[in-house]
Amino acid sequence: MMNPVLELKAVDRVYQQGDRKLAILQAADFTLTPGEMVALVAPSGAGKSTLLHSAGLLERPDSGDVFISGRACGRLGDDERTAIRRNEIGFVYQFHHLLPEFTALENVMIPQLVKGLTRAEAAKRARDLLDYMKIGQRADHRPAELSGGEQQRVAIARAVANAPLVLLADEPTGNLDPATSSYVFEALEALVRQSGLAALIATHNHALAARMDRRVTIADGKITAL
Ligand code: ADP
Repeated sequence: MMNPVLELKAVDRVYQQGDRKLAILQAADFTLTPGEMVALVAPSGAGKSTLLHSAGLLERPDSGDVFISGRACGRLGDDERTAIRRNEIGFVYQFHHLLPEFTALENVMIPQLVKGLTRAEAAKRARDLLDYMKIGQRADHRPAELSGGEQQRVAIARAVANAPLVLLADEPTGNLDPATSSYVFEALEALVRQSGLAALIATHNHALAARMDRRVTIADGKITAL
């Protein structure tokens, strides 16, 4: 059994809505090991974003803890959490959030430059990743000149630019037609399989969920197998 790259242990996440308390996660446990692709399937409002944001250190649990590569992250300071998020975690959203004034290549270079790589190093890896996502020939185009599927492939390349351990995706193909969605998912799947990354992917698409290693949902504040 490989050591988990992501672990939630007894995580509580409670929102205050007026004078009501809304317990979205309650003593929630979850484990993700390297190379694993897990689908998160739950209705809107069930807490998928809350789970992804907690796992990605964008939110802090009210109690319990999130471990990245065995390291407890709940009590770390903001700078350390930001560093872990930058180096170990990649995010893909439903909408690509690419920077419009930069080319596809530059969008994939930027996180690497922020991390301190040289322009030459960042450009080489960005080209390799865009080739891998079968979009190398569009590297010098800006997002507005790319189709929705191409934009998402660039966004995936950007998410893994710094070779994270964990990829967290919130409906990464939710905005695409079925054929494009399937094509983008195949590229994502190949990348995860080839790199040994671990991925937690929220999706409403049952066909895509069926292709992952396992499926989980959120029920009564717990993360349970589907
Ligand atoms: P999903 O991603 O599955 O649609 P979310 O995690 O976004 O669900 O939200 C789960 C529930 O928590 C929803 O009912 C939402 O209204 C509530 N919620 C989310 N964020 C907050 C917040 N910051 N304050 C209060 N309630 C919130």
